[in-house]
Amino acid sequence: MTRALILTLFWGLSITSSQGQYWQQRVEYKMDIDFDTEKHQFIGDQELTYFNNSPDTITRVYYHLFFNAFQPGSMMDIRSHNVSDTDSRLLLISKFSSEEMGYLHVMSMTQNGIALKFEEQGTILVVNLDKPVLPGKKAVFKMKFNGQVPLQTRRSGRYNAEGVAYSMAQWYPKLSEYDTEGWHADPYIGREFYGVWGDFKVNITIDSEFVLGGTGFVKNPKEVKHGYGGYNGLPDSEKVTWHFEAENVHDFMWAADKEYLHKIVKVNDNLDVHLLYKDNPEYNSNWDTLAMVVPKLFNYVNWRFGKYGFKKYSIIQGGDGGMEYPMATLITGFQSLRGLIGVTVHELLHSWYHMALGNNELKYPWMDEGFTSYTSTITSNYLSGGDSLGVPDFDRAMKSVIYLLESEKDEPMSIHSDHYLARFAYGINAYSKGAIYLHQLSYIIGQKNLDETLRRYYNQWQYKHPEPGDIMLVAEKVSGLELDWYNEYYIFSTRKVDYAIKAVYGKADETRVVLERAGDFILPVDLQIELKDGSIVLYNIPLQIMRGHKPVENDKNMIFSTPWPWVSPTYELTIPYGINDVKSLHIDPEVRTTDLNRENNDLEIKTDEGILYILER
Ligand SMILES: [Zn+2]
Repeated sequence: MTRALILTLFWGLSITSSQGQYWQQRVEYKMDIDFDTEKHQFIGDQELTYFNNSPDTITRVYYHLFFNAFQPGSMMDIRSHNVSDTDSRLLLISKFSSEEMGYLHVMSMTQNGIALKFEEQGTILVVNLDKPVLPGKKAVFKMKFNGQVPLQTRRSGRYNAEGVAYSMAQWYPKLSEYDTEGWHADPYIGREFYGVWGDFKVNITIDSEFVLGGTGFVKNPKEVKHGYGGYNGLPDSEKVTWHFEAENVHDFMWAADKEYLHKIVKVNDNLDVHLLYKDNPEYNSNWDTLAMVVPKLFNYVNWRFGKYGFKKYSIIQGGDGGMEYPMATLITGFQSLRGLIGVTVHELLHSWYHMALGNNELKYPWMDEGFTSYTSTITSNYLSGGDSLGVPDFDRAMKSVIYLLESEKDEPMSIHSDHYLARFAYGINAYSKGAIYLHQLSYIIGQKNLDETLRRYYNQWQYKHPEPGDIMLVAEKVSGLELDWYNEYYIFSTRKVDYAIKAVYGKADETRVVLERAGDFILPVDLQIELKDGSIVLYNIPLQIMRGHKPVENDKNMIFSTPWPWVSPTYELTIPYGINDVKSLHIDPEVRTTDLNRENNDLEIKTDEGILYILER
């Protein structure tokens, strides 16, 4: 029997996937943490139930021990000294004393009660199992661990630049994901994350003066108070245990500070948004305004990109900029209103692109950073008075992409994000080129189809691990077009777009236009003809391999021309307008393609009486 057939028999058909028969592993974490705020250390007990939903037998498991990255000599430290445009925040690590650095060590571990052998390799724990976990079976792993919170450098740590005591992201032994491509035990050297979907029950015992926020729901508000469940003030005892629970997430973050103000905004009956920020007269009013913007923000994103799946979200001051986590974000809080709202919009959209659509951020960072950039730019445009269906120009992102495409440091978007030669190439590929992936896709399939693709992709892939082929498959189904070539060119190569108006042969009653594919990237072509009477006609020339074309966009006067077989470097089009009636021609008039040389996209016809007009270039 083929593998596919076996899978169909045992797991049934779930969703249409580019990954063959789709399955995913599952975890249930229970953790008890005792936190020492004097030494910035903690000890923990973890019980993890691992459900092997894969068709494979698991004989070994891996855990991430992220805090071990924040030590002199770690891979993160070495890497930061060996990349040309390094992240200066990380250079502090090599100077950390034993009190300042971070660590996370596993002291003992069992599988179904039997002691296990394990080995720490930097930020990865390698665990050989006592008994293999067979397909469809589960195992219970128990461990004791201890950790020290490093001084804040990147994402997590203690006492960040704004004085937030604890930004506890990537803080516990976190099981690596095993998927259709096997294990993903990537050492932590600076980029982002990937996790196993599951449920968390986390009990944190800490000095009762600290206000906590984080992933999941606080289940004992009456004990912890600090504004949860309507209970204000301090808990009665010196230390208190916070009970957090979260379901269907792939990570768990928390943060703590004594000076947090805690505000709750009710967006609707199914959603409370918690704001936790340090009391600071200079910035409190910005947070007040942010609280007022939150309902409008959620309502819009729910309407345009699909409904937020949790009943709670927390915007928490902490970290070093903005970073997304399940049901929460850590952002810096002492900033302008514009900055505060901007970073919140971006991080909130990550609740769609990564916290619901859990792509592997190390392999496909553009699927969350790029899609988040695209949708947050649209959302910010709406919040600042734009049309609800509007799409702003992506001028800045487009300029960055062109800059990278012309740079010697350009690499395909398919490079693993830790392995880029230059940090800026990662940044542009993940954020700008990822956003333009969608913007340019709207040029190919039409904006309405793109919006529908994003909604359907969200509904179909939430709480799973989508891969590049999966959004493309949804786009194909929505548009009825064949689009796999687009990923091949855009993601897996550094090919360059350049379409040109090569020649125009004018007559009194018609005009022949010769277009050229001067670059090595194939695309359909929008050719806008502006006539001297002021009217505008838009020709769309689909690629033949698309087996169709996009629908008419924005009620434009649109004419669909014969498809372009991509092997031909040129394409001829005869338009029924005499040369004296034509004012100008423009390829990609809305600037939605990454066309490197735009000078040859436009042509003004400069003739008064030319019965015969020839321009060749
Ligand atoms: Zn982001």
